[in-house]
Amino acid sequence: VRAFDAAAIRRDFPILSEHVHGKRLIWLDNAATTQKPRAVIERLDRYYEHENSNIHRAAHALAARSTDAYEAAREKVRRFLGAGSVEEIVFVRGATEAINLVAQAWGGRNIRAGDEIVVSWLEHHANIVPWQQLCARTGAKLKVAPVDDHGQVILEEYERLFTDRTRIASFTQVSNALGTVTPAAEMVAIAHRHGALALVDGAQAVSHMPVDVQVLGCDFYVFSGHKVFGPTGIGVLYGRKDVLDVMPPWQGGGNMIADVTFEKTVYQPAPSRFEAGTGNIADAVGLGAAIDYLDGIGMANIAAWEHELLGYASAGLLSIPGLRLIGTAAEKAGVLSFVIDGCPPIEIGKALDREGIAVRAGHHCAQPILRRFGVEATVRPSLALYNTREDIDALVDVLRRNHGARRTI
Ligand code: PMP
Repeated sequence: VRAFDAAAIRRDFPILSEHVHGKRLIWLDNAATTQKPRAVIERLDRYYEHENSNIHRAAHALAARSTDAYEAAREKVRRFLGAGSVEEIVFVRGATEAINLVAQAWGGRNIRAGDEIVVSWLEHHANIVPWQQLCARTGAKLKVAPVDDHGQVILEEYERLFTDRTRIASFTQVSNALGTVTPAAEMVAIAHRHGALALVDGAQAVSHMPVDVQVLGCDFYVFSGHKVFGPTGIGVLYGRKDVLDVMPPWQGGGNMIADVTFEKTVYQPAPSRFEAGTGNIADAVGLGAAIDYLDGIGMANIAAWEHELLGYASAGLLSIPGLRLIGTAAEKAGVLSFVIDGCPPIEIGKALDREGIAVRAGHHCAQPILRRFGVEATVRPSLALYNTREDIDALVDVLRRNHGARRTI
């Protein structure tokens, strides 16, 4: 096995040469967003310099180029997710929009008063609020699967929530607040056993591990391009073909219609039916370039490297007096969340920033799970393929120094 060369990978990411406050930038805020390799930045340039056009609608050379580039990106996403068909890949703005699309379009048709929707305690607000809104509109009920003291979903408790009124379970594959990797395939199978669909939120999974929607068996899978080294403003909804085929459209407009008269509109099949208006063509193409970049390295290699780094970082952090790691599940990816006795997380975040180290400090848009552990905020370093042991050493070193002189933070 070729050794994982994080130092070489770093050179592919121009922003990692930045200095902030006179210090080398150490980017440990990957759960919020990831940095972009030169291959993605250059692909966006190439698109705007040589290919830019609206897609599908015009019979000229650039329309053909942009359409080809956009549809090639869809095929790359299909392969990246292990989906059976490009018709199952809908481009959206991000994970948030994908979940709202499902809650509104699928939910609008399939959820009635008294129906039930299951989520887990680990969810990002993006996988809570759209379902709450759907429940408020329809009179359906939201049920929440609890986690154990390590921050892992308790499968038996999750299964106990299902009744013959449960229509869908929607849960994360990796928690953005704790890093827990949930038993997603089992959770999908349990939902199916009870006649419910399953949506898996892959926003925090796709940059850390190989994903195969057919192995997961899920009906929907969502992620955001910007968390997987692609541009902002582009994301993906995967929907199983037979589910999308009978799902009503979400927004109406151009692109998504087969025929319009003032009496009646006939819609396109998926995925066009769910892509009303001019989409984010350039950034879809950029996302395709990010996927090519990851293919060149191999998601399994990335997962192995990050696993090692996560172990190294956990041990380093636990050597700091008074530090409490929140989220200690056996299966974790990418994220470390902690508090230190007597130090407000925001102050720790500022102290790290002064040393060039970017982490998130706050509630991470996942307030219920932090409150489950009795805190309102944590400090959250989060990893990506370009992080190194040196990055972790710098983090631990600053924490140790500041913690030694706690009054100054
Ligand atoms: N789900 C999870 C688990 C996330 O971490 C995030 C982003 N923090 C989202 C959904 C929402 O993603 P976006 O803001 O890119 O739509």
